[in-house]
Amino acid sequence: MKHVVVIGGGILGLSVAHDLLRRGLSVTVLEKEAHWGQHQTGHNSNVVHAGLYYKPGSLKARMSVAGNASMIAFAREHGVPVDVCGKLVVATSEDELPRLNTLAERAAANGVPAKLISGSEAREYEPEVSAVSALRVESTAIIDFAAVCEVLVRLLDGADLRLQSPALAIRSTASGVEVATPQGIVRADALVNCAGLHSDRVAKLAGLTPSATIVPFRGEYYELRPERRDLVRGLIYPVPDPALPFLGVHLTRMLDGSVHAGPNAVLALRREGYRWRDVSARDVWDVLRFPGTWKLARRFGLTGLDEVLRSFSRKRFAASLARLVPAVREDDIVRAEAGVRAQAMLPDGSLVDDFLIESAPRQVHVLNAPSPAATSALEIAKHIADQVTFTV
Ligand SMILES: Cc1cc2nc3c(=O)[nH]c(=O)nc-3n(C[C@H](O)[C@H](O)[C@H](O)COP(=O)(O)OP(=O)(O)OC[C@H]3O[C@@H](n4cnc5c(N)ncnc54)[C@H](O)[C@@H]3O)c2cc1C
Repeated sequence: MKHVVVIGGGILGLSVAHDLLRRGLSVTVLEKEAHWGQHQTGHNSNVVHAGLYYKPGSLKARMSVAGNASMIAFAREHGVPVDVCGKLVVATSEDELPRLNTLAERAAANGVPAKLISGSEAREYEPEVSAVSALRVESTAIIDFAAVCEVLVRLLDGADLRLQSPALAIRSTASGVEVATPQGIVRADALVNCAGLHSDRVAKLAGLTPSATIVPFRGEYYELRPERRDLVRGLIYPVPDPALPFLGVHLTRMLDGSVHAGPNAVLALRREGYRWRDVSARDVWDVLRFPGTWKLARRFGLTGLDEVLRSFSRKRFAASLARLVPAVREDDIVRAEAGVRAQAMLPDGSLVDDFLIESAPRQVHVLNAPSPAATSALEIAKHIADQVTFTV
């Protein structure tokens, strides 16, 4: 029986392992932390996205639309809490209407059920929202991705699952691959790299020269005080700026009834740096010596500065939220946990927009899997499992 080693025990690594196991292969999963899904998977907004934002035909578009359906079906089948509550994308002023219309066209092109509604119709869903018009999307859901990982681990009964097992070195041999861990060498016929924030480094360990570098962006969140949660019933998003689609704070009701607000986006000073004081000299140096960083800074320096200022100012954060829900005041929000996204960047400073998966004989590397990769995890897993080869 062929044996595959998967590096990374986030939602992608576990989904890939599950798919490979179902295809009759034997699998080892190596996770450096003491628990599964500790990083991006355990620090995200828990939204099953509908797939309306992404370029038609892209991996993101195809896999998020299919992933929305497969993730919700998986959750229902395995008793993971999920609520298909839908969401509103709101235009807060007339000048946002052209972009809202473009988004509606994109949703249609991607096959996402969404309808344009008036401001007063939007207030039937969200009485406190400020909207001249909105896009109502029915298929967006909220879920607990950590609980999805727990189910996947249970379904991986029979696989070799290893926590606290970082992949330290990788060697290709005549018959397969060898991965060195502190506990010894793992030998396999093929390797899949799902190492998230470290995926470019793991690719280099395996002898690849990845086309992109991971730049860690921290997304910082607040939440509404319990007594102000009734300001938001579901999910309220701004119209995205096509130049910076991952910027723009939104309000998200979670399964436990709390309402999260954010994220802003600042450069993290460590790949797993959840606070400003988390600093790694190696990670900072890697970002500083990467030419793309400086090109991005030149293009979007002012926007970046604004995000940093908002990181230190609850007042600024509340003001951004008040654009969507004017009743939100500074005192209504308290800090919540941050997350760090693994965003691949090219040397010319452009952010890789689509999922990026590179293959070599006996190796598949996931080099860019930011949001909505948790939504799309089961679809990305199928795609990766199709690409695993056992010959040189
Ligand atoms: C703030 C934020 C909000 C988000 N919101 C959403 C959302 O609402 N919906 C959505 O669909 N997506 C969302 N995402 C994106 C989503 O969380 C990620 O796309 C997804 O979790 C990626 O999963 P992963 O398994 O690739 O990465 P991870 O969960 O980061 O897993 C990678 C794993 O690899 C391990 N690892 C790294 N190096 C090694 C090594 N050398 N050896 C062994 N193990 C190693 C790490 O410890 C980690 O556990 C969000 C992301 C962020 C940051």
